Amino acid sequence: MIELENGRIILETGDITQLHVDAIVNAANSSLMGGGGVDGAIHRAGGPEILRECRIIRQRQFPQGLPTGEAVATGAGNMKARYIIHTVGPIFKKEDSRMDELLANAYINSLSIARDLGLQTIAFPAISTGVYGFPKDRAAPIVFKSLRHFFSLYQRPQKARLLFFKQSDMDIFLESIKGMIDES
Ligand code: ADP
Repeated sequence: MIELENGRIILETGDITQLHVDAIVNAANSSLMGGGGVDGAIHRAGGPEILRECRIIRQRQFPQGLPTGEAVATGAGNMKARYIIHTVGPIFKKEDSRMDELLANAYINSLSIARDLGLQTIAFPAISTGVYGFPKDRAAPIVFKSLRHFFSLYQRPQKARLLFFKQSDMDIFLESIKGMIDES
């Protein structure tokens, strides 16, 4: 485990579904109807209640699907967490100049929901870096900058835990933000 920014950002490896935190962020797709990767793991661990809440959100607020970069909250079903914050990261396309901003939006809008709910601790998976193909070394500085900026403005959430499935993913993240830590 590695602590950055006076302990407000924590990097660690593990299965995000097992965490006892206020909110777990789901790297969802715009349908909010579940999928593979961390999305599938969260719905399996939480049970059908989460999908039921997602259906209601789709009907009432987002009949066309949740736009990329936006976020919504549901309960966490059978999991130890209190909330799931579902966000949609960008599907990586090299030639699209909005990629970095859309990834930052996914993190910032998730943090904003946690702030508005008055939550202490939020846990993030490495959004978009799986099936969605966002290069891990390019995502890392965007994520770190977004968190650092948000934390400079707001007291809540107090902490963000970045969960990496593999140690090698965490190593890439750290290596990619090295210059930014040295500067601060
Ligand atoms: P996306 O579609 O946004 O790329 P994925 O679920 O394919 O999302 O992958 C995002 C990241 O989540 C990947 O680095 C993957 O290894 C990781 N991951 C998958 N399952 C879990 C889990 N249970 N806990 C934490 N991270 C996970």
